[in-house]
Amino acid sequence: MFMRVLNKWIQKEPSKNAITILKDRYFLKDGEGNYLESTWDEVSKRIARHVAAAEVNYTSDIEEIKNAEEHFYQLIKSRIFLPNSPTIFNAGKTMDRQLFKKDIEETTLEDYKTIFDSRTKHNMLSACFVIPMDDSMSAIFDAVKNAALIMKYGGGVGYDFSVLRPKGSSIAGTGGKSSGPISFMHVFNTAASTIEQGGARRAAQMAVLRYDHPDVFDFINSKKDNKGNNVLNYFNISVNIDNPKEFKKMLEENGDLTLEHPASSIRKTIKANDLMNKMVENAWKTGDPGMLFLGRHNQYYAMSEHTPVTATNPCGEEPLPPFGSCNLGSIDVAKLVEDMDLGNPNSDDISEFQEIIYWAVRFLDDVIESNIYPLKEIEEMSKKQRFIGLGIMGLADALYKKELPYNSEQARKFMAKLTAELAYFSHVASTELAKERGNFPDFQRSKYPHGFIPFPMLDDEIDEDIKAWNEKIRQHFQGEATKYKRNVQTNTIAPTGSISNLADTSSGIEPNFLLSYVRYMTNKEGDRVPLSYINPILMEKIGTNMTEELKAEIIEKGSIQNIDSIPNEIKKIFVTSMDIPPKDHLLAQHVIQSYLDASCSKTINMPKSSTIEDVKAIYLQALELNLKGLTIYRDGSLETQVLTSASKE
Ligand code: ADP
Repeated sequence: MFMRVLNKWIQKEPSKNAITILKDRYFLKDGEGNYLESTWDEVSKRIARHVAAAEVNYTSDIEEIKNAEEHFYQLIKSRIFLPNSPTIFNAGKTMDRQLFKKDIEETTLEDYKTIFDSRTKHNMLSACFVIPMDDSMSAIFDAVKNAALIMKYGGGVGYDFSVLRPKGSSIAGTGGKSSGPISFMHVFNTAASTIEQGGARRAAQMAVLRYDHPDVFDFINSKKDNKGNNVLNYFNISVNIDNPKEFKKMLEENGDLTLEHPASSIRKTIKANDLMNKMVENAWKTGDPGMLFLGRHNQYYAMSEHTPVTATNPCGEEPLPPFGSCNLGSIDVAKLVEDMDLGNPNSDDISEFQEIIYWAVRFLDDVIESNIYPLKEIEEMSKKQRFIGLGIMGLADALYKKELPYNSEQARKFMAKLTAELAYFSHVASTELAKERGNFPDFQRSKYPHGFIPFPMLDDEIDEDIKAWNEKIRQHFQGEATKYKRNVQTNTIAPTGSISNLADTSSGIEPNFLLSYVRYMTNKEGDRVPLSYINPILMEKIGTNMTEELKAEIIEKGSIQNIDSIPNEIKKIFVTSMDIPPKDHLLAQHVIQSYLDASCSKTINMPKSSTIEDVKAIYLQALELNLKGLTIYRDGSLETQVLTSASKE
């Protein structure tokens, strides 16, 4: 069963674009910079073998370990499932290459043990971390050092700066005044800028501040002069509004908000609306700050009574407690929809999708063991709660293939059912693993023994399929999950900014930003050569009607909405981020979030012409829905936007 769909994709080699990225960043090199790898096959084998070696902790049956390796290899080689970048960079790194060159038939139990025992600090496999901050100079600089260690190996870090006393508060030891959280953010930013990201990527951090911290306005303004790469450029910033509904009420009543801090005598009273207006104005200007609803995160987190989450990783999809870490992996649903009826609770293919999810969950659970953690405290927390983040990528391409416009009710139902299916089967897999390997050590203290469901779900009324998923979910969490759970959380949808390129698919749950673009590559002679890309699903749909003139026009515009010769039915389906009204971005996030125990990375794209009032309407609506946070981006508001259509270059 497992092999039917995987076999088809195992045959397909990564595109030229994907190979270029592999060469640039992922193929292992020796100390002198010579490549040790040149194919995706070698990379897949390296990752699968390194991670499967963790199974020596559970069995001495070599066949069982090889079986796990084989499943992991097939998932990765087919690019139906990819782990987060640090796993691809760092699995097997600095180990004996011969152990990875052996055929699987010749690999012995000793080999797997050697791989497991020879792990070093270079084998850091997770993308997401949160580290604590404490209101003392030595604790702050400890945090700088800890963050540096994480970023060096390609991990992203989040911090809650709320614990730092506000600017101007007294410091007992020196008789001086504190310089406040924002001044320390600049220290972290400078540290991040000096860190080589394991040779592979620049650093990324998230700073969180509570909405009632006395320095909240300085925080909101801290990136207002950012033009894309100049102010706190290694940070995303988010204001934590613990209880969004209560905040909304405060806004409606034009209520007062007291800004205060337990370690300071500073107190200010402001209008909640002034805070909202400032956030909105700056978000309109630069995209920052976003909002984060940590109260809602904790409501759906099974350990919130003991270790509440305090921040998220840089892209916002993974809330974590202090010293928490999470490793992510994503299933490419665009590949699967060609042969599987995803989201349908009565589908004949359901067991095949379940099997893919089971092996993906097992892989991520094995990563927890085969990982080397940058700090002892992170290792302890990660092993006590065993966070994993299985998500999807390729949603937009899957919708093109299914001919469902991203901004339609039908598409939203599909998104909800698909996420419900993912959430259900990944939790079932985590329960199966717990039966063999034991519960996460904090299980008894968690909410699971009491029938807790870790996400809000949608109304049964929506349709029969949603009702069926809801029933299965309720049964699971009121039944077996009260006894067995290997992982405190199982689902996260990452941006998949790099790995979606390796998989030749659209990123995460985002619509395609452009249907076409031009990328400049430098050839052997050192000349810059333009390479044009047009979404292959669109190419296929237009078929023989794709003339050279039409191609040129699509590349010029990036979207097909204003091209007269393309029929309306095609225009409706092949929408891009900018073609989709912001409220439909928000509703997509809402339905998907309803079935995620962690969160998802989603940007609410807005047209350049949007007014501050338009942004405010989105901010207000976000307070009402099943969201755990909000990030908006108004087209063109930063000078160094990452992707632009050819016409704008
Ligand atoms: P990838 O596709 O490379 O696996 P994603 O775009 O899905 O990565 O991002 C997942 C998470 O990885 C982010 O939320 C962040 O925690 C971390 N991350 C991404 N890019 C960086 C970076 N440049 N530096 C540090 N961490 C990063």
